[in-house]
Parts: sequence; structure tokens; C-alpha cells
Amino acid sequence: MRFMLIGPPGGGKGTQAKKLSARYQIPQISTGDILRDAVSHGTDLGKEAKKYLDKGELVPDNVMLDLIAETLGSDKCEDGFILDGFPRTIPQAEGLDTILDNLDMHLDYVIALRVEDEVIVKRLTSRRVCKNCGAIYNLLNNPPENSGVCDKCGGKLVQRDDDQPETIKNRLEIFREQTQPLLEYYRNKGLLNEVNGAQDIQSVWEDVKAIVEPS
Ligand code: AMP
Repeated sequence: MRFMLIGPPGGGKGTQAKKLSARYQIPQISTGDILRDAVSHGTDLGKEAKKYLDKGELVPDNVMLDLIAETLGSDKCEDGFILDGFPRTIPQAEGLDTILDNLDMHLDYVIALRVEDEVIVKRLTSRRVCKNCGAIYNLLNNPPENSGVCDKCGGKLVQRDDDQPETIKNRLEIFREQTQPLLEYYRNKGLLNEVNGAQDIQSVWEDVKAIVEPS
């Protein structure tokens, strides 16, 4: 199965993508994680991406499309994948159509998580991620058992650099201007499913599961 998750920053894409990945045994393709990893390893991609990530701006479409073409064409995506954070612009969505055509693939489900700005700001400022395994926590509604330590691997929990208030504002504006039009794009293709992402994690998951496995 091939999924795409669309939603604002802090909308819960990463959390739901991990659940889909575990249930259907397909990889989560988080472009944000790939870019952050490239930055921390100081690769050419990382050097190019860093200036955009630090400001909460989008990495240029051509860079993202090259990255996605290579990833989706690799063996690990043969049996399906979950796109988390890609596409984020109409040119990326159009480029993805071409990439999928060339690979003789198609998307099965586009799932959009709807969440209001006030909820997002609250979530992002209280989000913590494990530096080691990438697990996501929230100090308000999904805290770790021991403060600052990952339940899963014991790694250190940190705040993402781009989860600072000024950067969050910028990311939300970019989402509204550049990413929101994708909803119409995929609605017109008959692929769009919308879920209320402001609910608690388990309720969102029940709604996501019901799209794929209607009772
Ligand atoms: P995320 O973890 O999905 O919130 O992404 C973090 C940051 O990575 C974004 O603010 C962008 O700077 C960059 N990024 C991730 N995915 C994309 C994309 N599809 N297009 C452009 N930039 C991206």
C-alpha cells in the first residue's frame, strides 16, 4: 500500500506514519527526518538544506524531487511506503506524479490531518524528540516516563531547533500558502481523505485505520 500524509507542522503526521508503518510493514519516508539526518552528517544535501531548515523554510523543489525519486526507486519502497512531509508544494505534487508514473506505481490513500493553529503552537512548543531513535513525545499529553529520557531506547530527548515560536509562525504561514492547495489537488483526483487531527493520538489512529479498513 502507498500512503501520503498531509498536514500542518505538528499535525501528527510523523506519529500516524509510524503507526501505519508498524501495521502494514512498509517504510515511513519522512523528508524532514532525511534532511535532518543529512544535516547532522554534514553531507552535501545537508549543507544545502541547513539554511532552509534553520529558518523553517522549504528546501527547493528540485532538491526534494531528486531525493524522492531516488528513495521511491529503491528496494525498500518496493512493497509500499508512507510519504510523511512530501509533497509540500504543487510543483512537488506534479513532480511526484511523474516519478510514480515512471515507476509504474500509484498512490492508494492521501490522508489529510486537520488541526487549528492554536493547537499546533501548543503541540510544537511542548514537542520533544529522541536524539537517538526519533521517537516523538509531548510534554502535555504524551510525556516520557522519566523527564528528558526516551522510554524506548533511553536516548536524550531534545527540542527541535525549528520548534521555536518565531520559526513555528513562519512554518504555519508556508503551510497555508504552499501546502494547503494540495488538498484541492488530491480532492480533484478522488484520493483525499480528511481526518480531525486535533483529537488525541489514539482517536486519530482509529479514524485513519477506518479509512483503510472500513468495518
Ligand atoms: P518536517 O519534519 O516535516 O516538519 O520538516 C522539517 C523541515 O524540513 C521543513 O520545515 C523544511 O525546511 C524541510 N522539508 C521537509 N520536507 C520538505 C519538503 N517536502 N519540501 C521542502 N522542504 C521540506
